[in-house]
Amino acid sequence: MAAYVCTRFCISKSRDSIRFFQRRYRVKTKWAATRPKFPATELALHNFDTSYSILLREQWPSVRVAMLCEQKYGALINGFSSAPNVITELEAQGCEDFITIDCTRNEVHQSSLDSTNSHRDSVEMEPAALQPSISSDIKCLVFPKGDISRFKPAGSGILGYYLLDAASVLPVLALDVQAGHTVLDLCAAPGGKTLALLQTHSVSCLWANDLSGSRTARLRRTLQSYLPKEFLDENKIHVTSMDGRQLGMTEEKSFDRVLVDVPCTTDRHSAMVEENNIFKRSRTKERQKLPLLQTQLLLAGIQATRQGGNIVYSTCSLSQLQNECVVQQAINLAQQELGITVQVQDLRWFAQRFSGTFHFAPQLSVGELALPHLCANFGPIYMCKLERMN
Ligand code: SAM
Repeated sequence: MAAYVCTRFCISKSRDSIRFFQRRYRVKTKWAATRPKFPATELALHNFDTSYSILLREQWPSVRVAMLCEQKYGALINGFSSAPNVITELEAQGCEDFITIDCTRNEVHQSSLDSTNSHRDSVEMEPAALQPSISSDIKCLVFPKGDISRFKPAGSGILGYYLLDAASVLPVLALDVQAGHTVLDLCAAPGGKTLALLQTHSVSCLWANDLSGSRTARLRRTLQSYLPKEFLDENKIHVTSMDGRQLGMTEEKSFDRVLVDVPCTTDRHSAMVEENNIFKRSRTKERQKLPLLQTQLLLAGIQATRQGGNIVYSTCSLSQLQNECVVQQAINLAQQELGITVQVQDLRWFAQRFSGTFHFAPQLSVGELALPHLCANFGPIYMCKLERMN
C-alpha cells in the first residue's frame, strides 16, 4: 500500500522559550472503496482525446483548450419584461445582438455574391432571396469576438434577460416557429430554450416537458421569473414531468414544431466539473445507453410532429455517436418501424449566416455543429433539422 511522508510544524514549549520544529509522520494513503482512482473530468478528457482527435483532427487541440477555458455567455432578451433600457444598457457595455448583426452582415455579403456571381464560399449557397427568414423577435446579446467581459445578473422583478450559452439559441432559431404554431419542447428543463421559443411571440401553445421532477420545478420557477402572471394565466404553456418517450404515442401528429434537446455527455461540463459528471464510473452504464435513449426521444419527437412539421434534434456534445449516428438511426427506424418518412433539412445556409459569431465544424454528414473557440467560446452545440413528410 502506498505511503508518503508528511511534514507538519509543531510547537515545543520549554521552560523559557517556544520553539517551532518540523515533525515527520509516515501516513498511509487511504484507498476507500468510494475514492475514485481517476477523477471523472480526467476520464472525460481521455475519452474525448481518443474520439475527438479522430473526428476533428487538427482542430481538436484548439477546441480542447477552449472547452477547458471559461465559457462565454449570451443575454437572451426577455421581451415580456418591462425593465427599461435593458438593450441600451447592454449595448453601452459593448454587447451586440448576434442575430441582427449576423443576418444583416450576411445579407450584404450574399447580395454581393448574387450580383457578381464570381465567387462562392466552399458551401454552395441558395441566393439570399430563397433562403428562409429567421425570426427577428429573438434577441441575444453577446460581447464581440475576443471580448471576455462578463454579464451582470439580470436584476429584479420580471427579469430583463436570461444568461445562457448563446449557441443554445441556434436550435431554437433553426426550428423556425411561425405565428400560430403548436410547439413541443420534449426535454425542456431548466428552460433556456423554452424561454427562447416564447421570445418568438408566435407560439399558440407550448408544451414543455422534462422527465426530472426537480428540474421541471426549476423550469416552472424560471417561467415565473421571466413571464408576467397574466401571460401564464392564459394557459398557453403546459408543463409536465413525463418520460418524453411516451409522448410520441400519446400525442401523435399533434405539433407543428418539436424541439428534442436530449440528455447527452454535456462535454464542456464533463471536462470541467466533477459534480454530477456522467463520466463517473458509477454512471458508465447510463452513459453507454445515451445513444439509445437519444434515438428513442428523437423517434418520439418525430411521431408527435404533424405531417409537414419540423423537428430539431440538438445536443451539447461533439460526439458523432450522439449526433449524426442518432439522427441516421432515428430516420431509419421511423421509416422501418413506424412508416414515417423524414427528410433532413439542409442547414448549411444557417451555419453560414451565423459564422460571424460561431465557429462551425466543416462537413458533417447531417446537421451542424458549433465548436468552442478561444475567440468565441460558445458551444459545443449540435443541431439537425428534420421535416416529417407523411
Ligand atoms: N432544453 C433544456 C434547456 O435548454 O434548458 C436542456 C435540456 S438537457 C440538455 C436534457 C434534459 O433531458 C434534462 O433536463 C433531463 O432531465 C431530460 N431528460 C432525460 N431523460 C428524459 C426523458 N426520458 N424524457 C424527457 N426528458 C428527459
